This record gives sequence, structure tokens and C-alpha cells, in this order.
Amino acid sequence: MAEDCIFCQIVDGEIPARVVYEDADVLAFLDANPLAPGHTLVIPKEHHETLGDVPPESGEMMFAALHYLTPIVEDVVGADGSNVAFNNGEAAGQEVPHVHGHIIPRFDDDGGRPVHAVAG
Ligand code: 5GP
Repeated sequence: MAEDCIFCQIVDGEIPARVVYEDADVLAFLDANPLAPGHTLVIPKEHHETLGDVPPESGEMMFAALHYLTPIVEDVVGADGSNVAFNNGEAAGQEVPHVHGHIIPRFDDDGGRPVHAVAG
């Protein structure tokens, strides 16, 4: 655990979150500032800053959770698709330095714009 990491604090239950999935290695919870209903973050419980820092086994666990959760999140909110994305590194817009995948539900009537345009 990294002391000042928000997502490590969520893993430890020190900061509340709407947890949608948990196993021994991975946690998934709703984004506090959702770009769409059901916007979900998937993280390894172990602290790693970027994808390149993640050991292969943890990467596989995280991908397995993304693979499992994406269609479920889409079903729950009635989405027609989703953006599944990583902002990897500060230059790419990563604000929380604990690696995380975004599942951002998309809808036929949301204009099909790139996800950064949805945020705006
Ligand atoms: P990034 O820009 O690093 O890829 O995305 C970080 C995401 O974490 C943002 O979408 C932001 O809304 C979300 N976030 C930041 N702090 C918290 C928090 O304390 N709780 C939750 N649930 N989400 C957070």
C-alpha cells in the first residue's frame, strides 16, 4: 500500500466507494465523477503506478476482471457499447497514480463522440 494513494485507501476501506466487484487481487468501483452512468474503475489491489509497473500476473487478473465486468456494466445500465481505456502516465491524463482501467458505458444517442469530448 502507498500511504498517500487514494485508491490504496479505497482498497483498505479508509475511503468509501461503491464497490461493484472484488476478488483477492482486483477491486472495481464506480467512478466518483462519472462520464456516463455506470462508469467503473478496475484496479489491482497492489499499488502500481502505471501499466508498465504491473507484473504480468496482476495485469492478467486486471484484464480478466475488465473482460468479465464490461458486458455486465453495459447490461446493468442498458448501454449499447463502452469505452474501455487506461490513461497511462501523467502526460496521458492519468490523475491518480495507481493503475486503473475505465469502463465507460456508451449509448447510441450520445453522439458517438470520443470519450474526452463526452467529458466536456
Ligand atoms: P485518471 O484520469 O487518473 O485516468 O482517472 C482517475 C479517475 O478517478 C477519475 O475519473 C476520477 O473521477 C476518479 N476518482 C478520483 N478520486 C476518486 C475517489 O476518491 N473515488 C472514486 N470512486 N473515484 C475517484
